[in-house]
Amino acid sequence: MKYLLGGKGANLAEMTNLGIPVPPGFTISTEVCKYYYDHGSEYPSRLQIEIKIALAKLEKITQKAFGDAKNPLLVSVRSGAAASMPGMMDTILNLGLNEKTLKGLIEKTGNSRFAYDAYRRFIQMFANVVDGIEHEKFEHILGEVKSKKGMKLDTDLTMEDLKEIVTKYKELYKIEKSKPFPEDPIAQLDRAIEAVFGSWQNVRAITYRKLNKIDEKVVIGTAVNVQSMVFGNMGDDSGTGVAFTRNPSTGEKRSYGEYLMNAQGEDVVAGIRTPKPLNELKEDNDAIYNQLLAIFKKLEKHYQDMQDVEFTIENGELFILQTRTGKRTAQAAVKAAVDMVSEKLINEKTAVLRVNAESLDQLLHPTLDPAKRSNFKVIAKGLPASPGAASGKVVFNAEDAVEEAETGGKVILVRTETSPEDIAGMNAAAGILTSRGGMTSHAAVVARGMGKCCVAGCEAVIVAEKYKQFHIANLTVKEGDLITLDGSTGEVFLGQVPTTIPKLSGDFGKLMTWADKYRKLGVRTNADTPKDAKTARDFGAEGIGLCRTEHMFFEEDRIFAVRQMILAETKEQRETALAKIFPMQKNDFRELFEIMKGLPVKIRLLDPPLHEFLPKEDKDIVALAKELDVTETKLRETIETLHEFNPMMGHRGCRLGITFPEIYQMQVRAIIEAACELKKENGIEIRPEIMIPLVGEVNELRVLKGLLIPVIEEAMKKYKVKLHYEIGTMIEIPRAAVTADEIASEAEFFSFGTNDLTQMAYGFSRDDAGKFIKDYVEQKILVDDPFKTVDQIGVGKLMKMAVELGRKARKNLHIGICGEQGGDPATVKFCHKIGLDYVSCSPYRVPIARLAAAQAAIGD
Ligand code: PEP
Ligand code: MG
Repeated sequence: MKYLLGGKGANLAEMTNLGIPVPPGFTISTEVCKYYYDHGSEYPSRLQIEIKIALAKLEKITQKAFGDAKNPLLVSVRSGAAASMPGMMDTILNLGLNEKTLKGLIEKTGNSRFAYDAYRRFIQMFANVVDGIEHEKFEHILGEVKSKKGMKLDTDLTMEDLKEIVTKYKELYKIEKSKPFPEDPIAQLDRAIEAVFGSWQNVRAITYRKLNKIDEKVVIGTAVNVQSMVFGNMGDDSGTGVAFTRNPSTGEKRSYGEYLMNAQGEDVVAGIRTPKPLNELKEDNDAIYNQLLAIFKKLEKHYQDMQDVEFTIENGELFILQTRTGKRTAQAAVKAAVDMVSEKLINEKTAVLRVNAESLDQLLHPTLDPAKRSNFKVIAKGLPASPGAASGKVVFNAEDAVEEAETGGKVILVRTETSPEDIAGMNAAAGILTSRGGMTSHAAVVARGMGKCCVAGCEAVIVAEKYKQFHIANLTVKEGDLITLDGSTGEVFLGQVPTTIPKLSGDFGKLMTWADKYRKLGVRTNADTPKDAKTARDFGAEGIGLCRTEHMFFEEDRIFAVRQMILAETKEQRETALAKIFPMQKNDFRELFEIMKGLPVKIRLLDPPLHEFLPKEDKDIVALAKELDVTETKLRETIETLHEFNPMMGHRGCRLGITFPEIYQMQVRAIIEAACELKKENGIEIRPEIMIPLVGEVNELRVLKGLLIPVIEEAMKKYKVKLHYEIGTMIEIPRAAVTADEIASEAEFFSFGTNDLTQMAYGFSRDDAGKFIKDYVEQKILVDDPFKTVDQIGVGKLMKMAVELGRKARKNLHIGICGEQGGDPATVKFCHKIGLDYVSCSPYRVPIARLAAAQAAIGD
C-alpha cells in the first residue's frame, strides 16, 4: 500500500504483521496531502476526528497518555512518500513534551538528564522544522554552554547544563516568534503534521523529485507517520543504528551498518558522531545482535530484496523503526541480484529487472590507473563511501560547484558534512569529499544514489569553508587546486591521477548472459575506429549499426587530400584526389571488418556539408594555399562559395552523392574491395550494409543506386568474389518517414537517425538546442531532452509510421536506430515496442542497451 501510506508507513504496517517489533503508531495517508494542496491548505473534514480516535487507540496500546503528567506518551512525526526521498522532508521527534510531561518522563525513567536532553532536542527540531528558526542559532547556544565548561562532546553535558540550555532555547523561541513555545501537545501535533505536509513542497524536495524523475501524478504526496517514541539515548543499554542486510557498496552477502550506544538516530544520520561498525554490536549486546540478524533474514525473505533498516535499542529492548529497499551501487545491485538467484530468493528474470540499466554506467566508470597511481601522493584516507574515481578542482560549496560545472569544469565538492541543501552541488560535482560522517551519512547515501564517487568521514581533512581551503596537517589545499578521489579505497590524492576503464566479467557477465537470453532486440554499436569497434565487441555488440565515414576523413594523413578533393574544379582533379584517399579508406574498412569477424557492418557514406573539412584559421588557409599551389585570394574565394546559411539543411548527405558521384563511388569501391579481399584471404563472410544518409525522396535513392551498383559489380568481378551486400537508408528526414513505403521499394534496410529526425521534427537545431532545452524541461514543457530520450509522441509517431509503411512495402525490411538515443533505456524500450530489429549505440552504452532490451522483453 505504499502509494497510499508512503513507503515508510506501508513497511511499518507490513513489519507489524510479520511480528517484527515496531513501535506502535498510525499513518495519515498521502491522499490527505494531495487534498491539502488541492484545497488551499485545508484538510478533509474528518481528519481531526480520525486523528483523535487513532491517538486514543495508541494510548491504549502503549498504556501511556498524550500530555499526561505521570505517564506521558511521546511521538515522532515523520514524512514518507511512495518514493524514497532521503533527508528531503521533515521529521520531528519527542513530540508531546512540555513542562508538565517532562516531569512525568523524569519520574517514569528516573533519568532527568535523559529527559532534559530529549526536551532540548524537541524544542530545537520543532522550532526549526515548524517555525523555521535556524538550526545554527540553537547550535550556538549549545556551543556556548559547552565551551564555558570546557566540554567537547554533547554527552559531557550534565542535567543542569541541559536545563540551562532548555531555558535559553525557549527564550530564543520567544524572541524569534514573539510568543512562548507551544505547551499544548495537541497543538504541537497539529502544527507538526502541517509542517510535514508543507515540506512536500519545499525547494529541496521539489529539486530531488525533479532530479530523480519522480512522477507527481503517481507519487501524489507525503504521508505522515505518527509513532510512539522509543529512545536510544536512555543510557548504556540503549542505542541506535542503521543497517543494510547486504553491503550496499559491494553487494557482499553480509549485513552491514553502523550504530552508536546511548544516542538518537539523528546523531548517526547527520554524521555528528562517527559511529561503530555493526559487527561490534556483538560485543556490546550479543542477544540483540543475533535478534537483529534474524530480523534481517526475515525481512529479506519477505521482501525478496536487500533492505535498509533503522533500529533503536531502548533499555535492552530492540525496535525496528523503518525498513525500505536499500539503495545500492550498480556493483552491489549486480552482485546481490546474481547471488539472490543462486540463493533461490528470486529468478533470473527478476534479477534482470532488479538492476537499473542506466546505473550500469557506474560499472563502466573509470578507476585509477594502477600503474600510475603510485606516482601520486595520498594526502588522506577516509571511508570508501561510493566507488569509482574522480579528479577535479576543489570547491567548497554547492553554488560554486554548480557554477564551475556549468562552464564545463570538473569539480570535487569538499564539505565538513553535506546536507540536503547541497543536493544540486553534489549533482554537479564529479566527486564528493567530507571530513565527517560514516558510510550511511547523507553524503554517502546520496552519492551512491547518484552513482558518484565519494570519500566520507575523512577526519584528517580540516575544512575552512570561509577561507575556501582545507588543511591536512601542514598541507593547505585551496579552491581550484586539483585533487583525485578513489571512492573504492577512500584515498585522496593531490593532483590529477590518470584513470582506466574496468573489464566486465564475473557477476556482471552472468547477468548479461541472462539479459541476452531474454531480449528480442539486437544490440549493435556506433563505431568509426578500430578502437571503438574493439571496445564495443568486448561489451557484447553484435555488429556495427553506424560507421560515420566522415570521421576517417579528418585523420591527419589524409585531410590534405580531402581538401584537395573538395576544392577540385574538374572531375579529373577530384578523381586524382580521391585516388589518394581510396587505399586509406579501404584499409579503414578492412580493419573494421576484421574486428567484427563476419558480424554485420553498416557503413554510411559521406554525410556532413563539405565546408566542415576546410581550414578556418588564417594560418591554415595560408598553408593550404601554398600546398595546393593556388593564391590565397583564390582559396578564400572558393571557401566563400562553399559557405551555406543553413548547412544542416544544405549541401550534405545524399545530396553530395548526387552532385559528386565520384565520392560515393570511391567509398563503395573501398567497402566492396575490402570485403572481397578478406573473404579471399581469410574466408570471412562479410555482409556489408551500405547506408545512404539524409534521403527524403525515393528518387534520390533510385538515382544513387544506379550510380553505385555498377561500381559494386565491377569490384566483385575484379576479385571474382560474390558478396551478399545490402543498400539501405537512414530515416532521418520527416518526409522519409511519411513516405517510407515508397522508400522501402528501393531500400533493403532502414536505420532511424533520431538526431536529425528530432532536429527536423521539432525544428530544434541539434547544435543550439542546449541553450533552451533546460528551460523547457524545467518548466515541464518537455518531459525530457528529446535528443537524449526519443520523444515518443511526435518523433516516435513518425518512427512507428515508417516501420508500418516500410514493412508493408517490403516484408523482410530490417530496421534499427543509430541516433544518440539508441543507448537510452527508455528509448530502447520504445524501440522494442514498435518492433525494431536492433538498436545501435556508443560502445560504452552497449551493456546498458542489452539490459534495457531484456527488461523491455520481460516487461511484455
Ligand atoms: C542521426 O542523425 O541520428 C545520425 C545518427 O546521424 P548523425 O548524427 O551523424 O547526423
Ligand atoms: Mg544524421
